[in-house]
Amino acid sequence: MLKDHKKIWSDCLKIIKNEISEQSFKTWFQPIVSCQYKEDTLTIQVPSKFFYEWLEENYLILLRTTINSILGLKGKLKYSIKEEKVSDTPRKDPIYIGLESTNLKANLNPAYTFDNFIEGDSNRLTKSAAQSIAKNPGKTAFNPIIIHAKTGLGKTHVGQAIVHDVNHNFGNQLKTLYIPSEKFTHQFIEGVRNNSWQKFVGYYTSLDLLVIDDIQFLAGKDKTQEIFFTIFNHLHQSNKQIVMTSDCRPADLAGLQQRLLSRFKWGLTTDLQMPNFETRIAIIHSKLLRNNIRIDNNLIEYIATSIETNVRDIEGVITSLIAHASLNNKSIDYALIKSTLENIVSKVNTELSLDYLQKTIASYYKFSVNDLKSKSRKREIVMARQVAMYLIKEYTNLSLKTIGQHFGGKDHSTVIYAQKSINNLLDTDRYFKTKFEVLEKLIKRKIPPKQ
Ligand code: ADP
Ligand code: MG
Repeated sequence: MLKDHKKIWSDCLKIIKNEISEQSFKTWFQPIVSCQYKEDTLTIQVPSKFFYEWLEENYLILLRTTINSILGLKGKLKYSIKEEKVSDTPRKDPIYIGLESTNLKANLNPAYTFDNFIEGDSNRLTKSAAQSIAKNPGKTAFNPIIIHAKTGLGKTHVGQAIVHDVNHNFGNQLKTLYIPSEKFTHQFIEGVRNNSWQKFVGYYTSLDLLVIDDIQFLAGKDKTQEIFFTIFNHLHQSNKQIVMTSDCRPADLAGLQQRLLSRFKWGLTTDLQMPNFETRIAIIHSKLLRNNIRIDNNLIEYIATSIETNVRDIEGVITSLIAHASLNNKSIDYALIKSTLENIVSKVNTELSLDYLQKTIASYYKFSVNDLKSKSRKREIVMARQVAMYLIKEYTNLSLKTIGQHFGGKDHSTVIYAQKSINNLLDTDRYFKTKFEVLEKLIKRKIPPKQ
């Protein structure tokens, strides 16, 4: 009589289910699919080589006795591995550590909430996706969600905000975890070492929300990726929420297995960019407010224009300002901000100012920087060039000689001449003066007057 492989396997599962914990059954047996039954051999498909190795190591006897009791002593079991790409890392003996679940809340920074995450064009989509996930973990189309951004732009903040919100909305009903992927790797390796990774996998597959931060650190760690793949599949199949962050786009995650990358496409990939000027101002305002500090709006604008790297640098400057001001019992003034900026943000320097000024002034008068540096004697170009020299002298500490050099190697006397001409025009040409003042306002937003 021809036996149906599905029936055979479901009979086996009935036996197995009674022998092991529900968690282990869900993790290791539910994902298995039977494929065929031929010549006393049942073929089952497992999701990965790792999975197969795990079964062989932990459930060999159980599987053998089960098969024999259903198919008789001639019965055999064969595995087919779903994903062909397997790790070539040499196999280690299984090992492991426990998870201190009591410490899990300590993983979270209490300040990393949605309320404290200032919204702007640079992060609106990501914030709103993250908020809808927190309302309905695992039930939105954003599963998994992968948030990518350069360093200091809020990945960890948003990841933790989701956990805070889910904890707040669902209390103890849902099991949540935020984990940096380095820590995940470490736990896994320890688990392997202590021969207790079943506990590790059991713990992770029991979560309702897993936030794993900086997955770029999984690159090249094939065994960790395999276990993550297993956990990922398990959680995803049971509609549990997975949140990942990365410092680059998934496509650029070199060293991550293709099958993992292809899973990420199931959900939403979204990014965080550097906030624009207005959002930076809002961020600075909010940080100052939380510390009960008030400073002049001009100074806030000065900070906002000076830091174009990332939000962490903005925070660094604010923290340092607050520390200095309170230690020396001084108010936060322009000089303190300037020196703090110089210490923290290496990009604030006169070279940058010079480039910036040349670009801004050239484009204001609708020329290119090369036009300014050229030898052209065209009236309008000469005027724009002289304005640029004048303002650079005004707004930087560069010498006449250096300024001349930056205009196609002109002499310092050319710069002196430019200063005279511009002063003269400012006195005599009202139209020129108005236009010049608009330009100067524009520049002041970016470059502070020199000391
Ligand atoms: P990442 O993990 O991307 O390197 P973080 O999440 O650690 O960045 O963010 C760096 C710092 O900047 C954190 O202190 C965070 O609170 C803050 N931050 C980033 N974006 C915002 C924002 N939009 N509003 C308020 N604070 C922010
Ligand atoms: Mg981070």
